Amino acid sequence: MILEEKINEPIMRLIGEQADKLGLPCFVVGGWVRDLFLRRESKDIDVVVVGSGIDLAESVAKALGRGAHLSVFKTYGTAQVKKGDLELEFVGARKESYRKESRNPIVENGTLEEDQKRRDFTVNALAICLNKEHYGKLLDPFDGLVDLQNKILRTPCDPDITFSDDPLRMMRGVRFACKLGFELDASTFEAIQRNRARIEIITKERIAEELNKIMLSSKPSVGWVLLDKVGLLSYILPELKALQGIEVKEYVGHKDIFLHTMQVLDNVAKAQDEQGEKKESYLWLRWAALLHDIGKPKTKQWSGKTWTFHNHNYIGMKMVGSIFKKLKLPQNEKMDYVKKMVDLHMRPISLVEDTVTDSAVRRLLFEAGDDVEDLMMLCHADITSKNAQKVEKYHQNFVLVQQKMVELEERDRIRNFQPPVDGQEIMELLHLPPSPVVGELKTAIKDAILDGIIPNEHEAAKAYLMQLAKEKQLL
Ligand code: ATP
Ligand code: MG
Repeated sequence: MILEEKINEPIMRLIGEQADKLGLPCFVVGGWVRDLFLRRESKDIDVVVVGSGIDLAESVAKALGRGAHLSVFKTYGTAQVKKGDLELEFVGARKESYRKESRNPIVENGTLEEDQKRRDFTVNALAICLNKEHYGKLLDPFDGLVDLQNKILRTPCDPDITFSDDPLRMMRGVRFACKLGFELDASTFEAIQRNRARIEIITKERIAEELNKIMLSSKPSVGWVLLDKVGLLSYILPELKALQGIEVKEYVGHKDIFLHTMQVLDNVAKAQDEQGEKKESYLWLRWAALLHDIGKPKTKQWSGKTWTFHNHNYIGMKMVGSIFKKLKLPQNEKMDYVKKMVDLHMRPISLVEDTVTDSAVRRLLFEAGDDVEDLMMLCHADITSKNAQKVEKYHQNFVLVQQKMVELEERDRIRNFQPPVDGQEIMELLHLPPSPVVGELKTAIKDAILDGIIPNEHEAAKAYLMQLAKEKQLL
């Protein structure tokens, strides 16, 4: 869509008309204007009014008619109007001043320029007038358009003040750099380095929100590497920082696990993006990719010949729990999924290293369940050798495992396995009270199915149970 068409969209005209009726100077600002020039899709529209943003929001909501929903936040002097996909934010132009211990400013009414000055980056401080008299006029007091053309993120004011006032802006800077493919201007970059410790006044929830946006960009490694370069990584996720570096003993080194992790993360992002439609659930496989080797530093050992990382998947899985808690990431089935992926990420590799037995594949299907495709995507992404022949061979081996999975799944329906004879039936058939032996029998039936001794069917399982009971003299 060309720029003019977008600024002339009916909704923009409508906002301008309502502002004229109220006699309020009104401008569209921030991300929407930036994305207009970048020709990117933009969801929310931010509108600044010199005067009451709430008054304008009320009349816009009225003019939009049925289906429009208005929310007013009196304490902040802001209001939101939603209708279908449309999301409008209204705010009165304001001036801000900060105290040292908080990112919440003291707010006063201000001019448009004062409002633009309080914004985080020059490319986010562009404003376009919506009033009829100057409709479409760009107001760019900080040369944001030049920065936009040069793909530069620069603060409108002294960067040390900008970041010290609201340290969340440091995270936003890294996020925009990652998402838009922009660079931080040298003075902005250095100011983030100097103010990095201020990140500690930001709530973990806000930080996590930015991290998730970085994670969902097309090349998330750019964000994590930048977080490291500006010195924020040690504050946010020191466990990831600990993956950096190579140790050499007797001329044998191991790969830099941080760099490897970055590659795996980008591989997963690429594979998911190639699948088309962006899904919220993609986020969690990306977290699994980021954390898949997080247990390596704690498990690293020199065997005398090579470096080993025994059980790093298990230690890593445990660390996922503590990292999610610390970062205030969800403590629910999403975390369990990430834990499971980290725990299982070595299994397909060990499968292809040995001869691939049906039993081993069935067990993996049983443990991964419906997440087995995601696990295989992670495993493909985990192949980062520089040796092209090796890479090709590993990918092919995984494809063989995947074929075997499909065959076995068709035959044995293992992935959402429910034992064909449950505890209740075992107790009834054998006249047993609830006791540990019931659990043992259930496990024995499950193992027999996974090992291919009996098919995944009720009658076969019952017959096997009776045979076991006889052997154990339970009958
Ligand atoms: P996107 O919506 O694509 O994530 P955005 O730039 O629109 O990016 P929002 O969080 O929607 O970001 O904020 C809208 C605008 O408000 C920004 O463009 C910026 O001008 C301003 N802004 C938001 N957060 C801050 C902040 N912490 N400090 C200064 N200005 C901010
Ligand atoms: Mg926005």
